[in-house]
Amino acid sequence: MAKILVSGCLLGFPCRYDGKSCPVAEIRELAKKHTLIPVCPEQQGGLPTPRLPSEIIGEKVINREGTDVSEQYHRGAEIALQTAKLNDIHLAVLKAKSPSCGKGKVYDGTFSGTLIPGNGVTVSLLEEEGLTVFSEQELTELRSLLDKGEGIL
Ligand code: SF4
Repeated sequence: MAKILVSGCLLGFPCRYDGKSCPVAEIRELAKKHTLIPVCPEQQGGLPTPRLPSEIIGEKVINREGTDVSEQYHRGAEIALQTAKLNDIHLAVLKAKSPSCGKGKVYDGTFSGTLIPGNGVTVSLLEEEGLTVFSEQELTELRSLLDKGEGIL
């Protein structure tokens, strides 16, 4: 059995910027064998739900009206990291493309739906601290790691 940090929206919690969720049945299924610990760095960092969408621009996170929300994003990332440390978690499944939870690709800061290479703020911090992060689009790779069980239990 592994302990896995999971984006709350992937588990069906309505924590997204638009007040909705984006549940993935296959991720919820993981709870049968593993312990899933939900986080939502944007809510936990102090942002309301619903909230304006934000994108990463350089070193900052800016919402659609131009307000700098970097502080809340970094606070949320730190809370996700502390949650992982407190529970001795080394593995995370986080929501693709989010400015917090996105891994590998994020929106380019123009609010035009254009993706560029990069990580969300929380993914950057978790990876810096040694966690292995998957998106919901990488469940085959996640399952393969869980089957091996190496270094994550
Ligand atoms: Fe989902 Fe992460 Fe956005 Fe929260 S911050 S709504 S968990 S993608």
